This record gives sequence, C-alpha cells and structure tokens, in this order.
Amino acid sequence: MNPTKPCLTEENITVFQRKLHEWYERHHRVLPWREVKDPYLIWISEVILQQTRVEQALSYYRNFIVNFPTVEHLAAADENSVLKCWQGLGYYSRARNLHASAKVIVEKFHGHFPKSYDEVKSLKGIGDYTAAAICSFAYDLPYAVLDGNVYRFLSRYFAMETPIDTMQGRKQFMETADMLLDRKKAALHNQAMMEMGAIQCTILSPDCDSCPLKHNCMAFKYDMVELLPIKSKKTKVRNRYFYYFFIKYQNGFFLRKREKADVWRNLYEFPLLEYENKLPIEEVLAQEESVKYFLNAGVIKQISEEKKHVLSHQHIYSRCVYVEIQEKNEYLTKHYDYVKIEESDKYPVSRLVEIFLNEYLEI
Ligand code: SF4
Repeated sequence: MNPTKPCLTEENITVFQRKLHEWYERHHRVLPWREVKDPYLIWISEVILQQTRVEQALSYYRNFIVNFPTVEHLAAADENSVLKCWQGLGYYSRARNLHASAKVIVEKFHGHFPKSYDEVKSLKGIGDYTAAAICSFAYDLPYAVLDGNVYRFLSRYFAMETPIDTMQGRKQFMETADMLLDRKKAALHNQAMMEMGAIQCTILSPDCDSCPLKHNCMAFKYDMVELLPIKSKKTKVRNRYFYYFFIKYQNGFFLRKREKADVWRNLYEFPLLEYENKLPIEEVLAQEESVKYFLNAGVIKQISEEKKHVLSHQHIYSRCVYVEIQEKNEYLTKHYDYVKIEESDKYPVSRLVEIFLNEYLEI
C-alpha cells in the first residue's frame, strides 16, 4: 500500500465520532484528573503523564497536589521540595519547568491560569500537545491532541505509512486528528482518542476483535496492524560509566548538586568520576583523583556490582564504592555538602542514587 492521506466524508466522520465516544463512555478508566476542570490540576497531570505510565503517575499526581494544591503554592515553593516530589519520575526538566511556569502564572497572569491556546503555549515546557490537552480538557476549546497513543491509533485506522517522527508525518497526522475532532465536545473527544490508543489499540497487543472501529480500520483490513506506526530513525543511545563514592563520615555522607546542563540537573549525587569507557574498578580506585579526594585515609567497606540505568537516550552503567573516613578532607568540604543521615530525605536525588543510598543506609 502507498502512503495515503485519509479522505473522509462528513458522514464518515460523524459515524467515527459516535462509535468512538460510545466506546469511551463504556470503557474508559476513571482517573482523578479526568474528574476536574481546573486547568492547574490538568496541567500537573499532563506533565506528569509525559513519559510516565498511568499507574505510576497516579501516586505522584496525588502527592504533588497535596504538597502544591494551587499554582500559588507551587510558585512559592523552593526548587528542592519540587524536585523531591518528582524524585524517581525522571525527566526532571519537567519539574523545573512546572516550577518556573507557576511563577510566571503568578507574576504575569496574577495567579489566573491563562485561557487562550497561545498564552498557555507560551509557558515553559508546554508544547503543542500539552497546550491542546489543557485547552480542550479545561475549557473545551477545539484543539485536537496528538500524543503517542493518538499517532498509533490514527496510523493504524487509516494505514498511514508516513513516518510519525518527520515534519511531513506530524503535519499529516495533525490534519487528520483535526478533521476528526468533534468541535462541540473537544474534551470528551480528545480523551477518547487517547484512551483508544492507550487501552484498545495498544503497542504490543491491540484488541482488534473487540474494537468498535475494526470494520473501517485499514490496518486491520490489510493485515498491517503490527507494522504501524512507522518511525524513520532509531534513537541513538550513548553509554556512560559512572563511578560513585558513598563517603561516610561519622553520622553523614557527602552530596553535590548536579548543576550542568545534563541528566538529573539540580538533583544531588555522591562524589562521582565519569568515564567514556568501562574501566576495571581497580583502575578507578588507582586514579589520582580517587586516591586524593575520595579514598584519602579511608577504608573501603564495599564495592557494588554494576547497575545499568536506562534513560531514553543514554544507558548509564554505574558502580558505587562505599568508603568510611575518619577525617574530612579539604576538597570534600569545599565542593560537597555534608549531609546528616537523618536529613538525607530533604535532598532530591535520581532513582539510581536513591537505590545506592537505601542500600547503604541499612548497613
Ligand atoms: S481494529 Fe485494531 S488496529 Fe484498528 S483501530 Fe481497532 S484496535 Fe486499532
């Protein structure tokens, strides 16, 4: 089949909408952010849901809105407490952007969430998808959403072979989603499109047999379901090798904020040596900086096995050396925060550091 641009009549669109909406009313999951019209709560949920499974998002959403029930609370919070609520979710720039945008809403919009698509999109971290989701869910404005679930569902329903990660693909899928949008029920329609991709037309095992749209689904008809959607390029993955040092001194240890534009920016971590290639641990321990700064007069208590931490574009291979020291050295004091064990909870850390920390605090 050649790449096609779907041609839809008004009648086809009406039938599609009716079937989709009926299916949604019967099968959708009840989720707390679907029960509200408050744009602040919808915004928080949408940002948490990016790159996150619904099951995991639920507990983070509840915790986040308990800690920051309004945009004013979020704007007034310090960044560490915002990142702490985000700990373990990954993609921490989302939390930093939420915090920065909350301040803009309070200062520029006097605490009122912006109401137009362009104003919503002007906030940091909000792209086309999130702006359309907030505007349609909160205000019923007629903007079609296009997330991974909608791409997959549309690509199959119309057997669209244009790669979804190209300019042409984005344009074509957006036009299609827009054509199908029920402008009088934008919130319901968009939720239904996304839910269809999330629970019926799933990545690995779409349930075509029970699908109310299968009679007009091109991928089902031409046996192309497993081939769609198409992507043009593979994600390039970078391998990184982290060697952490958990340096225990009396009732505490050392952490430092990652401040560079890199993964986990503004989260805390142990003293770290990073290399482009994997090194035998003996070689790491023999490095001048290990000896001088981290092992200096210390006793190595434990060396972890290698842990692999998978991020979207990076695989981080890490090991951690647990060292106990009797005296603080000048380098550590100057470059790291000394954290008492009972205060370690106040420091936002990556999931990887949290795993090591939990292990060592039990020793
Ligand atoms: S028939 Fe299958 S492939 Fe087509 S929309 Fe339904 S679940 Fe998706």
